[in-house]
Amino acid sequence: MKKVLIYTVSVFMLVTLFYNIDIFNKFEIGSKQKAMINNNISKKYGDIIIKKGNENKKMIALTFDDGPDEDFTPQILDILKKYNAKATFFVVGQKVGWNPEIVKRAYEEGHEIGNHTFTHINICKSSNEQIRKEIMETQEIIKKEIGKEPTLFRPPYRAINETLFDIIKSNHMKVVLWSDLDTKDWSNPGVYNIVKTIEEKAENGTIILLHDYNKIRNNKSQTIQALEKIIPKMQSLGYEFVTIPEITK
Ligand code: ZN
Repeated sequence: MKKVLIYTVSVFMLVTLFYNIDIFNKFEIGSKQKAMINNNISKKYGDIIIKKGNENKKMIALTFDDGPDEDFTPQILDILKKYNAKATFFVVGQKVGWNPEIVKRAYEEGHEIGNHTFTHINICKSSNEQIRKEIMETQEIIKKEIGKEPTLFRPPYRAINETLFDIIKSNHMKVVLWSDLDTKDWSNPGVYNIVKTIEEKAENGTIILLHDYNKIRNNKSQTIQALEKIIPKMQSLGYEFVTIPEITK
């Protein structure tokens, strides 16, 4: 009798649980479906997606999106030079047009230049034609400055779709995302928090997303202040700062 009671209660609890999960799903269906579509695309194009580098070497890849910025990018280049650290810059095509000498400087100092679309579009909200135009025009303007087309692309807002991957694949490029570490430096969370996130989570092969543009136009962005701390700190622990091609070797 006791067993039957336990059984009945268990079944009742399970049904309640599933019913609640189902209600939850109804509210979440939009974002969950989107995540599933992204997952499927990520699986299909896994061979051209980079999220992490070589885990056997004490290397970290700093990546800077949204530049070149006339104020912040040169400061970042100065810090990198001071510590003999290399990084990857995912530049916005139209800003390359505004600050061509900065892109040239970054390239000449040994950093990698990647494509981040021409006007920072959201791939998922753009037509196929627009996506192609944004990517190819950025390839061209970068080539004009550094003499070669980038082989790396980073999608603004991390937005991806099949059209994007078809274009990337046919141009023999790769899509660079980032490791499970997001400082959200663009939102100005505080220098301490940017440093802490990197210090606590960075490990061999980590790709770190940062920004060399910030809408708050202080003399120094929080990202820059954090870099001044984090680069010597991680180097003292034996880490080397390298470009994406270097960390994926
Ligand atoms: Zn961006």
